[in-house]
Amino acid sequence: MSYGKGTRKVSQDRGLIRYLMRHRHTTPFEMVEFKFHCKMPIFVARQWVRHRTANINEYSLRYSKARDEFYYPDPEHIQFQSALNKQGRSGKVPKKLTDKVQQYFHEISERSFEMYQELNEAGLARELIRGILPVNLYTEWYWKNDLHNLLHFISLRSDSHAQYEIRVYSDAMADFVKKVAPHAWEAYQDYEVRGLRFSRIEQNMLNQHLPNRVIDDILEDLAYQVTATLHKNKPREDHELYPLYRKQEGHDTEDDFQLKWESGEIQTGNVREMREFKSKLQSL
Ligand SMILES: Cc1cc2nc3c(=O)[nH]c(=O)nc-3n(C[C@H](O)[C@H](O)[C@H](O)COP(=O)(O)OP(=O)(O)OC[C@H]3O[C@@H](n4cnc5c(N)ncnc54)[C@H](O)[C@@H]3O)c2cc1C
Repeated sequence: MSYGKGTRKVSQDRGLIRYLMRHRHTTPFEMVEFKFHCKMPIFVARQWVRHRTANINEYSLRYSKARDEFYYPDPEHIQFQSALNKQGRSGKVPKKLTDKVQQYFHEISERSFEMYQELNEAGLARELIRGILPVNLYTEWYWKNDLHNLLHFISLRSDSHAQYEIRVYSDAMADFVKKVAPHAWEAYQDYEVRGLRFSRIEQNMLNQHLPNRVIDDILEDLAYQVTATLHKNKPREDHELYPLYRKQEGHDTEDDFQLKWESGEIQTGNVREMREFKSKLQSL
């Protein structure tokens, strides 16, 4: 939209998507919408609704009768309260105790549902009697969100710090995103999930301890890589290559350049991204 019709080719989409993700130009990602039909325990839904940018249409227990559908954790997900992470779980629980946990889950769910049914059949208001049902009861909704905010959801809820029971939903939605928006997903992985940002304090430490020669080596590699990429995108005559490399601020002599060039080991990539990396290194 910003560039106008006819100014780009489909083949440039991937590069543009990567550029947008890298620079947090997020509005185009807001134009892609996903709608999921989800069914989850109420305690998972409680966490899920904290993501305020979505549109939600939920199954109503005021109008409709509750269904006998409860979440029962598998034994491997029944763990102790973590001593390190106040919001987590850890450790292996003896079978006797996991059996007891499962038994309690069943007991409370089945008994409360019997009571609910009794009161429902006696004609009591469903909006009130739902209050006796526990939070492992399943609820169901349509959840619509845009790609930008969905990726934000996934970054928080597919993270290892998120509760297992919401993580499985987040991972499942991530699988859809991967299929529907593969370039955006790839860019999100490269720049958000696996990208690193350094604070001012961290940069100061790098400034103090990272030897200049290491930075110079990387800058030199970048000069070669930019040259090779420009050449790949628009082939140059042999005699144009060394001047092109010098233009990228490469410092090797022409002989050294020829040797390295002919080794065939120079990688190519995205010129804009390499130049951005170069300016980051130069700012150190
Ligand atoms: C591991 C984990 C542990 C958590 N523990 C707790 C907890 O103990 N207690 C608790 O209460 N919550 C907890 N949360 C919920 C958390 O604090 C957030 O409410 C939730 O993750 C939603 O994040 P969000 O606000 O970024 O998302 P969204 O609501 O989807 O918002 C997306 C973005 O939009 C912007 N935005 C949306 N609404 C506003 C607004 N009103 N004002 C300003 N900016 C806005 C913000 O930039 C926000 O990041 C936890 C979440 C996680 C992942």
